[in-house]
Amino acid sequence: MKNLSIKLKVTLFNTLLMFLVVLLVLLFMLTISSSLLEATCISQLEDVIHDNIDELEYEDGIVELEDVDFYKNNVTTLLYGVDGTLLYGSAKKMPTLTQPTTDGALINLTTNGTTYYVYDRYILFPNNTALWMRGVVSANEMNYIVTMMLQLAFIALPLFIIGAGVGCYFIATQAFRPIEHMVTTARTISNSNDLSSRIPLPKVTDEIHLLGDTFNQMLGRLEEAFQMERQFSSDVSHELRTPNAVILAQCEYALEKTSTVEDQLEALEVVQRQALKVQVLISNLLNLTRLDRGMEHATFSKCNLTELITIVCEEQEGLAPKGMTLHYELSTPDIYMEADYSMVIRMVTNLISNGFSYGKENGCITITLLEELDTIQFIISDNGIGIPTEHQPKIFNRFYQVDSSRSNQEGGSMGLGLSMVAQIVKIHQGTIALSSELDVGTTFTIIFPKV
Ligand code: ADP
Repeated sequence: MKNLSIKLKVTLFNTLLMFLVVLLVLLFMLTISSSLLEATCISQLEDVIHDNIDELEYEDGIVELEDVDFYKNNVTTLLYGVDGTLLYGSAKKMPTLTQPTTDGALINLTTNGTTYYVYDRYILFPNNTALWMRGVVSANEMNYIVTMMLQLAFIALPLFIIGAGVGCYFIATQAFRPIEHMVTTARTISNSNDLSSRIPLPKVTDEIHLLGDTFNQMLGRLEEAFQMERQFSSDVSHELRTPNAVILAQCEYALEKTSTVEDQLEALEVVQRQALKVQVLISNLLNLTRLDRGMEHATFSKCNLTELITIVCEEQEGLAPKGMTLHYELSTPDIYMEADYSMVIRMVTNLISNGFSYGKENGCITITLLEELDTIQFIISDNGIGIPTEHQPKIFNRFYQVDSSRSNQEGGSMGLGLSMVAQIVKIHQGTIALSSELDVGTTFTIIFPKV
C-alpha cells in the first residue's frame, strides 16, 4: 500500500468511500421501503375490503355477490357466516385461520416464513342477516418490489463503483499531469545541467501553478548563483593571470645571461609591485568570502557612527591626492547604531578612496551623516568623472570595472570595492542607492534602519 502512487491511493480511497456511501444509502432505502411497503400492504388490504363491502347488494332478503372481487391486488376476500363457516372464497393457499370475531380487527400472522395480514369486517344487513368479510394478503407477495430493488442494486452497485473508480483515476491522472511535467523537467535539468530550462505552467492559477512558479523562481536564482560563481572563478583567474605573467616575464628577463645588475633590480621592483597586487587581491577575496558568510562573522555592538566616520575621514584626508579635499558634515549630537566597527570602517574607506580615485583635479568629496525618525543616512558625493548610465546597474557586481584605466590607483583597482560595500550594507539591513552623471559627479546614499 505504501508503495502505491498517490493517483492510485486517491482512486482507491474514493472508490471505497463511494462503496460505503452506496451501501449505507441502500440499507437506509431498504429500511424505509420495508416499513413503507407494510403500510401500503395494509392500506391496500383495507381498500379492497371496503370496495368489496360497497359492492355487496342486498335485495329481497338475498345478498348479491356478483360485483365482489374475491382476488384483487393480491388480496384474497373470504366471506364467513356469523357462526364462522366459510361461505365464499378459496382459503386453500391460506394459513389456518381462526374464525373472525372482532369487527375492524387487523391481525398479523407468520407461518412458514411468510407474513400475512388479515382484516375482518362485520356486515349487518337490514333484515338482521349478518356476514363476516375477511381480507387476507401475503406480505411476501408485496415484497417482490424490495427483492427487485435488491437484485437491481446488486447488478448496479459494482458497475457504479467501477465507474466511480475509473472516473476518479482519470481525474487524478489529469490533475497530476502538470506534476509529471515538473518531474520530467526537473530530471532533464539535473541530467543536462541546463539551469535555463523552466517548467511549463498550467493556465489555471491553482496550487500546482504556484508550485511550478516557485520551482521556476528557485531555478532562476540557482541559475543566477551558478552564473555568478562561474563569472567569479573566471574573473579571479583572469586577475591572477596578468600579474603572474608579468612576474614570469620579469624573472626570465632578470635571469638572462646578458642582464645587468640594474636590469635585475628593475625586474625585481616590477615583481614586487605585481606580488603586492596579488596580495591585495587575495586579502580582498578573503574579506569578500567572510562578508558572504554575513551575520556569522559580524560582531554587532553599539557604535558611535559620528566618531567612527570622523576618525576614518581624518585618516583618509592625509591620503587625498594633491588638490583634492574631503568635507564631512556630521550632524550633532552623535549618532549611534548597532554595527560592526571594522565593516563600517571598510565601507567608508572604500567609498572615500573611490572618490579620490575617480575624482577630478582639485575635486571635492562631501560626506553627510544624518539621523531621521526611523533611519540613519550616510551620503557621500563627489564632483568626479561620474559613471556612465549603462554601467550603473552593474557597478556593484564583483570585478566589475567601468574601465580600469580611469582609476588613479596604481594597480589597486580590481572592481571588488563596491561589491564589498554593498555586502556590508546588506549585513546591516540597509540599502544603497547610486546617482551619477558623467563628468558631473557621483553620489552614494546609504540608508540604515534604526533598531
Ligand atoms: P575598483 O577597484 O575598480 O574601484 P569598485 O568596485 O570600487 O572597484 O568600483 C567599480 C567601478 O565603479 C570602478 O571601476 C569605477 O569605474 C566605478 N566607480 C566607483 N566609484 C566611483 C566614483 N565615485 N566615481 C566614478 N566612478 C566610480
